[in-house]
Amino acid sequence: MNLNSSLLSIPGIGSYFSWKLKKLNLNTLEDLIYHFPFRYDDFSAIKHTLEAQIGDKVTIIGEVWSIKNIYTRYGKVLTQAIFNDGTSPVTLTWFNSAWLTKQIKAGDRLQVSGKISKYKNRFSIMMPVWEKISEIRNNTPASRTKSEIRNPLHTGRLVPVYPETEGLSSKWLRAKISFFLPKILPQIEDPLPNRIKENMLDLTKALGQVHFPSSWGEIEKARQRLGFDELFYLQLATLKSRHDWELKPTIEKFQISNFKFQIVNFLDNLPFKLTTAQQKVIDEIMVDFEKTTPMNRLVQGEVGSGKTVVAAAAAFIAYLNGFKTLYMAPTEILAFQHYTTLSDLFKSFSVGVGIYTGSRKFTSSSLRAKRSNLKKKIASSPSAPRNDVPDIIVGTHALLSSKLPTENVGLVIVDEQQRFGVEQRSLLRSKAKVPHFLTMTATPIPRTVALTLYGDLDLSIIDKLPKGRKKVKTYVVPNKKRSDAYKFIEKKVRAGGQVYIITPLIEESETMLAVKAVKVEFERLKKEIFPKLNLGLLHGRLKSKEKEQVISDFKDGKINILVSTSVVEVGVDVKNATIMLIEGAERFGLAQLHQLRGRVGREEKQSYCLLFPSTEESSIKSRLKNLERIFDGLKLAELDLKIRGSGEIFGARQSGRFELKIASFQDLNLIEKTRAAAKQILAEDSTLAKYPQLALKLETITSGAMPD
Ligand code: ADP
Ligand code: MG
Repeated sequence: MNLNSSLLSIPGIGSYFSWKLKKLNLNTLEDLIYHFPFRYDDFSAIKHTLEAQIGDKVTIIGEVWSIKNIYTRYGKVLTQAIFNDGTSPVTLTWFNSAWLTKQIKAGDRLQVSGKISKYKNRFSIMMPVWEKISEIRNNTPASRTKSEIRNPLHTGRLVPVYPETEGLSSKWLRAKISFFLPKILPQIEDPLPNRIKENMLDLTKALGQVHFPSSWGEIEKARQRLGFDELFYLQLATLKSRHDWELKPTIEKFQISNFKFQIVNFLDNLPFKLTTAQQKVIDEIMVDFEKTTPMNRLVQGEVGSGKTVVAAAAAFIAYLNGFKTLYMAPTEILAFQHYTTLSDLFKSFSVGVGIYTGSRKFTSSSLRAKRSNLKKKIASSPSAPRNDVPDIIVGTHALLSSKLPTENVGLVIVDEQQRFGVEQRSLLRSKAKVPHFLTMTATPIPRTVALTLYGDLDLSIIDKLPKGRKKVKTYVVPNKKRSDAYKFIEKKVRAGGQVYIITPLIEESETMLAVKAVKVEFERLKKEIFPKLNLGLLHGRLKSKEKEQVISDFKDGKINILVSTSVVEVGVDVKNATIMLIEGAERFGLAQLHQLRGRVGREEKQSYCLLFPSTEESSIKSRLKNLERIFDGLKLAELDLKIRGSGEIFGARQSGRFELKIASFQDLNLIEKTRAAAKQILAEDSTLAKYPQLALKLETITSGAMPD
């Protein structure tokens, strides 16, 4: 038995419970031992019933006088026991636990913990936790203010309460964890060097205390140590990866000064004047290009801040230097949109732009003839030299798994994706020299998170929107105003506006369920609400040809209302759209809603965002109402962090892999402390050869937990 043992294979757990454990994302013994309590019940006060005050959390020791099940008229079952510690009888009541009468019999001696209340003039404890006293150590009444169980788990102490799932109680978890902990802890070697550990608890001590603490003070110390670990290893991983990156030889240093004229000419010929923020980021990229280490930069900018043109400028510089650019978008819709935008931008610069996606098969006869090494065909814009691979190839993930010739790729642009971990690595592994990497995201990343998870990237921020953009007027709409909202929409459409209607986020990925839901809503809107308008339907399961058709019909104004799942969340740019209606708004994080809202308000026209929660609950409404006042994505992301925890930052899609269990991304102090510690280790030994334990730990982190 070791940390990696699968819970399924361990005696004492079995397939039923390991299946339940899986629901909590616990698969190995290590997972189980790292499943921490989220609170503790303090049942350490062992008292006589008569001494206890109503409302006290106590443990009492006594004997069961009687126990029976009572079936109520509503088909519920109550289990009731009369219990006495020699000072006063107490009624113990459990709900839906009929099986208890098999476990507890009259005459049994128990140690019982819970909150004392009064019911029908008698002391009472609802849903008490209990342990049987089998060994009778000392039966004199005076001893009854000491635990009569040598190592109590559920009573008479600080009792851990765990995140549970149906059929898997804290009581069960306590029993199992207390059984495995002493077997596993001796096998754990603390990877933290003493220098870093300083006066923090040893890892094994911390793990023991976090589950079965001897005092609140020990809990504090244990959590301090375990929280330190969480952030420290993330920091070490990102900083090490940054360090490794800096050792990589870049494909080639790009020339900037030789091409000053062309670059300025390109920028001057854009259909608009760059914002100072855009110009600043382009400058930062140019500085990176002239270095001998490859660029690894993350550009973060609000929706609509104009990241595409920054990427285009970078691709243009790569082109001038004789290198190709791969431009990756998260969806085919976006790839197609970028392809169109870039073809347009480069029309008069003889830069060839092509598109390559998993499903898109272009037929350009000259290409087919010349490029037999390309499994799928690449389409080129009219300006591209017909007989060559385009200078900029736009596509989806398919770009990386493809057989595209990548020797001459000098720049990889990744749009609207925080990370490209796995694919990026596999692309790079095959190369002696690596291209420059430019990643772009509209997802606001709080500074503390950026420091921790993106510490290996250089960060550029586009903090200004192009001039003239109006705030999107945002309203949380109660259900009784729904028909008014529809009337408002109809009126705006009559006046030439266009509308997005987003259906609720059902599951993490675009499943058939989500597709069905959007279809149902589409039919309802078409038949019952807007019979006279043109509605379009968009979701992730459409064929890419169909998607493009819908988007381009929407762009051309042939569709008034686009009913869609949240696939439009990222990047889609339709300037005439002025209303964004979001159903089931509470299912989204605030930052995510902000991103959806960014689909409208692209021009000077006043735009609107209507949020329809699917419940009238006031806490939900007040969370959403933040969007009525706050228009800063970063602020909203920080609120998400506060209200819903770190999982939110990365959207539902990443399904909380970054949920910190103990530490918090709001804890700037700890973040800086762990960062300094990680830096100290790497400064001394960047390969970690001296710290095999740390290196091993990092391997498990980067293979499983780093964002891909
Ligand atoms: P995002 O940062 O969300 O990717 P885009 O690159 O799609 O934003 O740009 C949003 C819109 O703003 C596009 O229509 C683009 O042409 C326009 N745009 C970009 N930069 C400027 C600018 N400096 N001035 C005016 N409009 C701009
Ligand atoms: Mg974009």
